[in-house]
Amino acid sequence: MEKFDSCQWPWLADLHAHLGTSISPATLWEIAQDRGFVLPKRDYHDFVEYISISPNNPTPLDEYFNTVYHKLLDKLSSGTKEVERAVYETFSGAYRSNHVQLLELRTNPMKHNLEAEVDLDQLIMAMLRGMERALLAYPKLSGGIIFCLGREFSHKKNSIIVEKAIKYHSRGIVGIDLAGPYGQKFSVEQYEELFTAARKANLGITVHAGEQMDHSDMWEIIELLRPERIGHGICAAYDARLMSELVRRDIVLEICPLSNLATRAVDNIAQMKHIMRTFLKNGVKFTVNTDWPEVIDKNHLHEQFNWLLREKILDESELRMCNALAFERTFIAGCGLDPYL
Ligand SMILES: [Zn+2]
Repeated sequence: MEKFDSCQWPWLADLHAHLGTSISPATLWEIAQDRGFVLPKRDYHDFVEYISISPNNPTPLDEYFNTVYHKLLDKLSSGTKEVERAVYETFSGAYRSNHVQLLELRTNPMKHNLEAEVDLDQLIMAMLRGMERALLAYPKLSGGIIFCLGREFSHKKNSIIVEKAIKYHSRGIVGIDLAGPYGQKFSVEQYEELFTAARKANLGITVHAGEQMDHSDMWEIIELLRPERIGHGICAAYDARLMSELVRRDIVLEICPLSNLATRAVDNIAQMKHIMRTFLKNGVKFTVNTDWPEVIDKNHLHEQFNWLLREKILDESELRMCNALAFERTFIAGCGLDPYL
């Protein structure tokens, strides 16, 4: 791992990181060894290569979902002991090694419960235990968990996830998200009520939208689900009316530049630069996040900040502004930390 230059950046906040892809390969490997799980590769370094992607070796989102994400990453972090360890190691590692002081980790809890063999409440409590242990070990770290509803899930299953998010809000579930493979038959309208219930329970609302070059459902999502933040939302850079609506509603985009390059959501660095500069020009607020910090090459948050600076996509003051905004717009209560301290 590249050693970070701790003087260059203030403490960082990551508002968009998925559990499955935030677990270090070493932790995944050790969990697999403990469980006797058969991996597709017998050597550790071959395994790391197998689960890794990079902008130079991009993999389309759906392909990665089907071959690695759900088959391996989610499976290895399934079960109470395993998920507790994965969550603990992820929060701890982010603080110890990646200069992250605030982390919102998101996941769909049903994807870690071994096809419903594990009681969902037990599983959620194991996740919360993992986070609480890390927060105890590293008192300067702030953490929260966001539950992702699945686009591919039935309304019934998603309503259980919202119910659990509300139930465990006081224990550290800070928000809900809508994620999962795009292109599913998904009715945004059907979810208005569920998102309203979550909002009333003081949960933060974020939604994955406008990631791939199709933003047909972004208007509906903004109007009906009323998110405070949007995961990615990069397609809005090509729609002036949508950008002014994001500004009017004060919606913050959680942009994950290296993830967008690695999953081919954007074609190249020049396009990524165009998108981010367009948002700045139009006053659309955004934060910089990792999405998948452990499986994308050099995608830890401090590395990503360095990369954006090196590629002249954002300058230092713009990057500091994005980071301050992340501390400001976190769903974690009482986290108005001053990142400059
Ligand atoms: Zn994401």
